[in-house]
Amino acid sequence: MSSILLKNCLYIFVSADEEARRGEDILIRDNRIAKIDAAISDSADRVIDCATGVVIPGFVNTHHHFYQTLTRNLPAVQNAELFDWLVYLYEIWKYLDEEAVYYASLLAMGELLKTGCTCSADHHYVYPQNVSGDLIGIQFDAAANLGMRFSPTRGSMSLSKKDGGLPPDSVVQTEDQILEDSDRVIQQYHDESELAMRKIILAPCSPFSVTEKLMEETVKLGRQYNIRLHTHLAETRDENEFCFETYGCKPLQLMERCGFIGDDVSYAHGIHFNDQELQRLADTGTHIAHCPTSNMRLGSGICRVKEMLPLGINVGLAVDGSASNDSSDMLGELRNALLLQRVHYGAAALSPLDVMKMGTENGARLLGFEKVGKTKEGWGADLAIFNVGKLEYSGSLADPLAAIIFSGYNHGTEYTIVNGHIVVEQGRLTGFDETEIMNKCNAISAKMLNA
Ligand SMILES: [Zn+2]
Repeated sequence: MSSILLKNCLYIFVSADEEARRGEDILIRDNRIAKIDAAISDSADRVIDCATGVVIPGFVNTHHHFYQTLTRNLPAVQNAELFDWLVYLYEIWKYLDEEAVYYASLLAMGELLKTGCTCSADHHYVYPQNVSGDLIGIQFDAAANLGMRFSPTRGSMSLSKKDGGLPPDSVVQTEDQILEDSDRVIQQYHDESELAMRKIILAPCSPFSVTEKLMEETVKLGRQYNIRLHTHLAETRDENEFCFETYGCKPLQLMERCGFIGDDVSYAHGIHFNDQELQRLADTGTHIAHCPTSNMRLGSGICRVKEMLPLGINVGLAVDGSASNDSSDMLGELRNALLLQRVHYGAAALSPLDVMKMGTENGARLLGFEKVGKTKEGWGADLAIFNVGKLEYSGSLADPLAAIIFSGYNHGTEYTIVNGHIVVEQGRLTGFDETEIMNKCNAISAKMLNA
């Protein structure tokens, strides 16, 4: 049995509804938090002094596209909106292969871990026709190497340009291929246990890249295995227009028609909903993965988070793909979530506690992890420790928790612990050589751009 003792923590964020603890110790045994108390005297394999540490439950990132780390910040689409941006990038993404997916996954997860995220989803939906490898398996290898808790969504695209969709033929699959592989990855990888390191979610990409039939079949398959469902929805006004023209209804009505709604369903973005639609999300328990940086970057709009939360809608946070965020900075996402709501709703729109809750327990709930997202005895030992004993936090420590959201510019943790293992130590990944990830990703990115 391995153990870690966090000594003398400056500040421990337990959960949004419970009192913070100050100056206490946290004992981790194996993969759970065993004890939180003052002056724990138990011996431990590893003792870490946390006198300047803000200890929080690790963030949960509810939506991402790891592969996009290789095509971020491209000058040609730096100023484009979603549809133009996608049409340009599909032509580069068709050159993705197994090696690219592996290193992109290491890069995205590495950056997430270093910014306090301990559990992440990933929505991989690009399966180029010349690639036959087990892409989700490759991603699980990358997650295991870094030590991240990982819940990939098996994405899919079946509606190409020739059928009225947005993506080119070269990156879509047939419905049979998609459903067969979805079934395979569930059987091969899905773990239902309380502290699973691997959970599968099924995720047709969006209303403009899959058929209505695939949405329906995916719902059937997911519910047969008790697997969660996810898709992009209500991200842009273009999507509304596309749905009206193609399906004769709004995106949420299409989802209703397919049964793609409910407490086992989450939508990424969820910006362009009217009042009745918000009520429908609340009534059905449908979750929202809010991606503020991406929404700002692509000019997609402002999600109505301030109105969703009082209705009881569970809203988690997500960095979204690195090509629409240009980073995988999870702490940065909390800051942007807080600030963006204030632009629209005023300074009292969201508090630091609100975004902490969204970034931790709400995200865990969205992904279906029951014992992740709070710093409590018996819960999973997924913790992020931010060192506020630095110049950029000086003068901000009247409220150490809010300091990490309002102040600072380097969003890196001092330590990140996942499932009882130290995966970031003194700001560096422990599971993989960062220089190798950097060099490989730059080389693969250049190769794809020049292909
Ligand atoms: Zn996305």
